[in-house]
Amino acid sequence: LRTELFNADRLSLVGQMAAGITHEIRNPMAVVRGFLQLMKEKSPTSLDHYYRIVMDELDRANSIISDFLSLAQSRSVNKEECHLHDIIHELSPLLWADANLRGQSIELKLAENLPRLKLNTKEIKQVILNLSRNAMEAMEEKGQLTLETHTTPEGVELLVTDTGPGISPAKQEKMFQPFFTTKTQGTGLGLALCLSIIERHNGKISVESEEGRGTTFSVLFRRSGGYTAEVG
Ligand code: ADP
Ligand code: MG
Repeated sequence: LRTELFNADRLSLVGQMAAGITHEIRNPMAVVRGFLQLMKEKSPTSLDHYYRIVMDELDRANSIISDFLSLAQSRSVNKEECHLHDIIHELSPLLWADANLRGQSIELKLAENLPRLKLNTKEIKQVILNLSRNAMEAMEEKGQLTLETHTTPEGVELLVTDTGPGISPAKQEKMFQPFFTTKTQGTGLGLALCLSIIERHNGKISVESEEGRGTTFSVLFRRSGGYTAEVG
């Protein structure tokens, strides 16, 4: 009797389990959320503060579950041909609002004539959002986040640069591991998810950082990853 599983089988097993558990946890959470909303309608406003906290924590738990589920998936479905800049522009209002609140600025340096890519737009949006959020969370007021794109011989590169404190080599080694975080409210899933999504896209993610100066995350979408030729 041979019980050894191939890696792919094991991965899909983990994926199935994650999907099952996610479903089982989300259902009761949705019920709690629903009844909380009902309670708020009937309760005095002195409970508003607690209500907000409970709702925020529920939403946080939900997004951890989503990230975990996404991490357990071994490949992206629904890849479509799209333009990286469209994804960035869709995210812009969200990023600008966040930066405004923090008193930070954002600069876009988007290359002209960037080729279209075959991507899962939802997942790549998540990557750009995670990297940008990390950048903003790392910076003080007046910090600057820069999103830059260009074409390289290898493919299309996206750079996310911040003017934060930088990341030590020791931390760089650990930060892509699931649940590694230095933040009190962090999940430590952001970069692990980025890595898993970019690997699924046959891309590459790397980091360059100088302590005290800032950090640049680079995401490479490889030519061989199946994007179509430039049309002008
Ligand atoms: P989280 O943001 O929940 O902590 P992440 O996986 O997104 O989890 O990031 C892991 C850790 O990597 C962060 O807690 C932080 O210490 C470090 N990190 C990530 N991005 C940056 C950055 N741009 N500048 C400084 N540190 C960073
Ligand atoms: Mg993060």
